[in-house]
Amino acid sequence: MGMSDLLGRLRGRGWRMTVQRRVVAEVLDGEHVHLTADEVLARAAARLPEISRATVYNTLGELVSLGEVMEVATDGRAKRYDPNAHRPHQHLVCSTCGTIRDVHPDGDPLAALPASERYGFTISAAEVTYRGLCPGCAPA
Ligand SMILES: [Zn+2]
Ligand SMILES: [Zn+2]
Repeated sequence: MGMSDLLGRLRGRGWRMTVQRRVVAEVLDGEHVHLTADEVLARAAARLPEISRATVYNTLGELVSLGEVMEVATDGRAKRYDPNAHRPHQHLVCSTCGTIRDVHPDGDPLAALPASERYGFTISAAEVTYRGLCPGCAPA
């Protein structure tokens, strides 16, 4: 069982678990998982060769609308799917290889925006992306 316990959460809410849908959920389950739809498709197909692109994409869309998987756009390229949807976190991104880690900064980034900078908005969420080089990409 992955640390994000996506499968457990889906079972708990009575999600219809066909073999194909379970494979998609299994591919996404875990810590620091931020896969593009094509990566999910490739990993799902490695386990279940007959799985279709449409099933993978539809399942991803459904998991997002259930609020069990988040869409994140951290690298300006393809959207990524993140099963860690129930624990607020920010992202640390390697500018070279694209590795993404879930991180938990001190303090609430939402609270960090002063009232004078809110322009009357009712603010519901804040996303912070920390960028740099991972240990494998940093020059020695
Ligand atoms: Zn890197
Ligand atoms: Zn994340």
